Amino acid sequence: MKYKRILLKLSGESLMGQQGYGIDKERLAAYACQIKEIADAGVEVGIVIGGGNIFRGLSGAAKGFDRVKGDQMGMLATVINSLALSSALEAVGQAAVVLTAIPMFPIGEPYSKWRAIEAMRQGKVAIMSCGTGSPYFTTDTGSALRAIEIEADVMLKGTRVDGVYTADPEKDPTAEKFDEISYDEVIKRGLKVMDLTATALCKENRMPIYVFNMDIEGNLAKMIAGDNVGTLVHPAR
Ligand code: UDP
Repeated sequence: MKYKRILLKLSGESLMGQQGYGIDKERLAAYACQIKEIADAGVEVGIVIGGGNIFRGLSGAAKGFDRVKGDQMGMLATVINSLALSSALEAVGQAAVVLTAIPMFPIGEPYSKWRAIEAMRQGKVAIMSCGTGSPYFTTDTGSALRAIEIEADVMLKGTRVDGVYTADPEKDPTAEKFDEISYDEVIKRGLKVMDLTATALCKENRMPIYVFNMDIEGNLAKMIAGDNVGTLVHPAR
């Protein structure tokens, strides 16, 4: 096994599957099975989920909402998704805890690095919700921060495409995939892997990220085994 402890970032949008909004039950169940597979193999799993399938602060602000309140609504959306995933994990026999960066017991336990690590060591999946807990940030930044805090070996970014390309492969058929690329190169080429804050945090703290397609069943386990199923973004050597 290549990685012992991981932080998996799932976007809110990926949870909605073919629907335009909300949570697709089948997609959620498929993710739960993939996550259980690696937890069963002994990998310690931390998860951060986005909220874009329900609410985004920026789009709220565009409609006239106060930005901070809009971001708080977005953070609450991540809690809804986290509860849904924990329920799907329990349904397939995988124990999980939901930790919240903003205290809201008994919906979840308050987040701390040590509580997350304790849960993972007990074989439970630690789902860390509310992103960073502060407005003006994204869950990409939240997952970069949590990956660094919990001392994960790698941060995994499950997306709809199978890695980082020279251009958007959904728009440009000549786009080529990188097997690996450095943070500096990502920034220099202006590639949209994560937002700048998240990229800078990972680069400064030497946290590698792995971008791959989580919607292909078995990909998560393959990635953990060291198969080349995506793109590794690494701090320059
Ligand atoms: N959010 C926030 N602080 C954080 C993380 C998220 O305020 O640390 C809010 C923000 O409004 C964001 C929303 O929660 O738009 C949902 O998160 P995100 O857009 O990152 O979700 P994703 O795109 O991954 O589904």
